[in-house]
Amino acid sequence: NTFAEIDLGDALNHNIRRCKYVKPTPVQRNAIPISLAGRDLMACAQTGSGKTAAFCFPIISGIMTGQSVQRPPRGARTVYPLALILSPTRELSMQIHEEARKFSYQTGVRVVVAYGGAPINQQLRELERGVDILVATPGRLVDLLERARVSLQMIRYLALDEADRMLDMGFEPQIRKIVEQMDMPPPGARQTMLFSATFPKEIQRLASDFLSNYIFLAV
Ligand code: AMP
Repeated sequence: NTFAEIDLGDALNHNIRRCKYVKPTPVQRNAIPISLAGRDLMACAQTGSGKTAAFCFPIISGIMTGQSVQRPPRGARTVYPLALILSPTRELSMQIHEEARKFSYQTGVRVVVAYGGAPINQQLRELERGVDILVATPGRLVDLLERARVSLQMIRYLALDEADRMLDMGFEPQIRKIVEQMDMPPPGARQTMLFSATFPKEIQRLASDFLSNYIFLAV
């Protein structure tokens, strides 16, 4: 019942210790092995359950062990993140970004955040420096896609955080538009994790549309 028992690799385990995480929380203990095994996942998780690490660890580990992807040339306008974490609000996006950066410290994995309600130029400059994991709110991401500053064609990991809240806020059309742009690579190339506190019909419909052969985890 330690993180060392989960095969996350030395660099990530080092950062986990640095964050003073000793014991995985229930959602981490159950969700991380499922994601590391390559399965899609729909998980019940409240704030404070440790869900951020539950989706960040497998993403960082997967990017570190996956085949290296050629970075776009410096100054290229369009960037190709490998992982996308969608979250409902600016505050939550900032929190996820902060945690994901700690987890990916000295791994070479670069995390960038883009949210609405703030000037886009600073975010564009961060994106231009390269991005492996993009943390974004749906509206701002649609804007970036329309400007062709981000392409989702290389996405291998998609995490939807607080999916019920995103739907409550009316983001379903944006989320659908975003996920449609990922459906070019071979089927099964993308691994998807959906986290939600509640499971109304609309969430179940999202899961059946976006996830394939998924495991439902209620802890
Ligand atoms: P979250 O539910 O992801 O927002 O996490 C809630 C809080 O718990 C955050 O401050 C995390 O840094 C912390 N946390 C998450 N997982 C662990 C863990 N395994 N051990 C100790 N603290 C944790």
